[in-house]
Amino acid sequence: MATTLHRAVILAVGSELTTGETRDTNGGDLAADLSRLGVHVVRVELLPDELDAAATAIRRAIDDADLVVSTGGLGPTPDDLTREAVAAALRLSPVVDPDLERQLVHLFERRGVRMPETNRKQAWLVPGAEALPNPHGTAPGWWLDHDGTLLVTLPGPPRELLPMWRERVLPRLRARGLGAEVAVRTLRLTGIGESYVAEALGEAMLRAGNPVVATYARPDAVDVRITARPEPGEDGGPGRSAAELEAEAERRVLAVLGRYVFARDDETWPEALGRRLGSRRVATWERGTGGLLAATLAGAPWFLHGEVVGGTDRADAAGETGRANARAAVEALPAVTGTDVGLAVEASLRGGDTLVEIAVRVDGTIHTEQRTVFLAGEQGRRRAALAACAVLWEALAPDPVS
Ligand code: AMP
Ligand code: MG
Repeated sequence: MATTLHRAVILAVGSELTTGETRDTNGGDLAADLSRLGVHVVRVELLPDELDAAATAIRRAIDDADLVVSTGGLGPTPDDLTREAVAAALRLSPVVDPDLERQLVHLFERRGVRMPETNRKQAWLVPGAEALPNPHGTAPGWWLDHDGTLLVTLPGPPRELLPMWRERVLPRLRARGLGAEVAVRTLRLTGIGESYVAEALGEAMLRAGNPVVATYARPDAVDVRITARPEPGEDGGPGRSAAELEAEAERRVLAVLGRYVFARDDETWPEALGRRLGSRRVATWERGTGGLLAATLAGAPWFLHGEVVGGTDRADAAGETGRANARAAVEALPAVTGTDVGLAVEASLRGGDTLVEIAVRVDGTIHTEQRTVFLAGEQGRRRAALAACAVLWEALAPDPVS
């Protein structure tokens, strides 16, 4: 009888990962999907192409989790050893599956080439395993129920792995029962640093076991993430749902930090700005940002006009000059373009950081602001563009943050 899966270990196999030649993205992608579905991801482990290391890790994973997902090591070459490692860990002998072999041979015939003998192991199955078809490559995955643990092996290349995972594996996992009920919400904050956010939330909230409230400083925001699980009732009485607990924690966060929250979950800056703009239209002017402000807003229906001026990494337009430039630009913009809102930004180098002069014109009123963002170069320019978005967002506030 298949049981609900609560704990997962993800194994990413490939020496290209442990040497750092290739960055592991599969592990994070799978972990994100499983976590969202309420599965506790115990660990994500990177392993070299070594039979013993992989077999040992698989055995350990089986001890620690009821779902073990591996990626990589399903290629045809001798260094691809995940099939061998699964067989060794479970003391099973792989055999060539005639159906898989036929499909594989047929695949090579269609390409008009002979199948290399080394590919034959891609037609292997161990007893109890079921093949997961791979429409984007030659390596099928395996789905294997073994003594209360479900093992899923997936190919390494993301373009093969992701379709197999999303189309073949996740639906089956869901049908079987996956994880606990979980409610997750991310509140995205601007205009306040992570330490102040933590201070405002207080230790009691940040250390609570359920809901878990955590802060993350990201380049474009400070995120407050709330993760709630259901709470069983006392003495068999009715408990509280994950959604209820999440909503309550969210209300408490909003009560102290609401005015800094510009977005929720996956909402982007253009979406957040769009909500406050209403029917107003925007034109921008930028210098020293390499066009990143326009790039950030591109595609928003209210973004009508973007001017990108001059080069980057200049130090000569800092301070007064930069502010005057931004102000002059924002004064000229609405007249030139017939838009309601103007946003101008001038970024210049200051030491290893970027000094940003921002001018906003909203409903005839001009507001200027200076900000320093961490880092220079590409990172600094990106942050300068985001700072401009943040200043515009604040200027559009019904009750502006002072
Ligand atoms: P495989 O033949 O299944 O071992 O996978 C081969 C290729 O998939 C590697 O050369 C990488 O480019 C890619 N790959 C494997 N594992 C990962 C991973 N964990 N994250 C991102 N790419 C990966
Ligand atoms: Mg490999």
